[in-house]
This record gives sequence, C-alpha cells and structure tokens, in this order.
Amino acid sequence: MKSYSSPSIRTRHIPQRTCLGCRQVKAKRELIRIVNTPEGNIEVDITGRKSGRGTYLCPTLECWEVGLKSNRLDHALRTSPSKDNRQQLMKYAEEYLKGETSAPGEKTG
Ligand SMILES: [Zn+2]
Repeated sequence: MKSYSSPSIRTRHIPQRTCLGCRQVKAKRELIRIVNTPEGNIEVDITGRKSGRGTYLCPTLECWEVGLKSNRLDHALRTSPSKDNRQQLMKYAEEYLKGETSAPGEKTG
C-alpha cells in the first residue's frame, strides 16, 4: 500500500509582529526590535536575536515616538523604562533611521 502525500503547497511562513506604535501587523524583518535584556537594559536589537522580552516598531520615527511615549512600552517589556532610557532609544532610532535613508550615488571612501 502506497500512501500518497497530498501535493505540498509551498507557503513560506513569514513571522509577523505587531508594531507598538501604529499597531499594524508586519513581517518581523521589517520591524525593529526593542529588548529588555535579562540584565534589565532596554536596548535596540537590530539582530533580533538577543534574549529577553522584546517588542517591535516600524522603522519610522512616528511609530517610535508613539510607542516610546505611551505606556504600551511598559506593558510590552514588563518594565517601565526611565526617561533617560526612552531618550536613548529615541536617539538611537533617529540615527538608525537616518542611516537607512542615505542618499544613493554618493561615494565615500
Ligand atoms: Zn508602526
């Protein structure tokens, strides 16, 4: 007796996460992770591989402003980041997002 396997439908499973700012569900790789590390540091996790409780934000400053200012962040990370912490994240976002939109065609180095 041969059992026929049903034709495999190739569906690529794309992990999705909700943005803390705009609450839109997006592909995980399109979002930036913020992690509350076991040491209690709130960090931007570009690699998405750090351990700890994390949350996700779109790479847009609007979402970061909304997400970081609201207490959703506290809920998501199960901690309440200090004002300094939030400012640090915001500063990081500003620099990171600036770097993402570097003008093409300009050669350096
Ligand atoms: Zn968003």
